[in-house]
Amino acid sequence: MTESVQTGKRIAIVEDEADLAALLHYNLRREGFDSRVFDGAGNTLKALEQWRPALVLLDVMLPGADGFEICRQIRKSTALGCVPVLFLTARSDELDRVLGLEIGGDDYVTKPFSTREVVARLKAHLRRGELHSESPVHEIGPFRLDLVARRLFFLGREVTLTATEFNLLSFFFAHPGRAYSREQLLDSVWGERGCVTPRTVDVHIRRLRERIEEQPESPRYLTTVRGFGYRFEAPG
Ligand code: CA
Repeated sequence: MTESVQTGKRIAIVEDEADLAALLHYNLRREGFDSRVFDGAGNTLKALEQWRPALVLLDVMLPGADGFEICRQIRKSTALGCVPVLFLTARSDELDRVLGLEIGGDDYVTKPFSTREVVARLKAHLRRGELHSESPVHEIGPFRLDLVARRLFFLGREVTLTATEFNLLSFFFAHPGRAYSREQLLDSVWGERGCVTPRTVDVHIRRLRERIEEQPESPRYLTTVRGFGYRFEAPG
């Protein structure tokens, strides 16, 4: 139904296996996408920043920086920070690292894969992205977050937040159900580091819990992921 909206979107294929890259390129073009192959040699991040893709298909084993490193760079890049990254993984140990989520990828497919599967996954991510970019208001369960007015309502009552608390909560609302480490949150929400430390994240999470949780000491929405970081549990 929303297929036509995606036509012409730029998809970067970062893959050094020429046959595989050509196969993906062919199929994406046939689906109406504007795809381009990056062979992973040289400065891939810079090339991606210049081209500004809507989504990146990212191989792990590459001749230059590996896919994990490139993904980390993408997450820190102001030009590309929110672009979905789908890993193309060949080995189970690569998959373990992707699933560890410390990398910042959004999804993965394991080789050998069907191009149909890749295209279906990729469309799902683009559709999700469109929903977020089209709507300046997130309504999730009892929450209503207005990104334009920068106001939060919980069960119809306004909750006052500081700028950082608002930014942090907006980030979680845009990625419900995903776990983030303190480092990832610092990179994504605080950007330029200055004098903030991972401890800063804990402090802001605690304050946010005091504002939005009925029982801040046993949170329902902003939960701790033991040994890793935090997650926003979207209420059903
Ligand atoms: Ca490869």
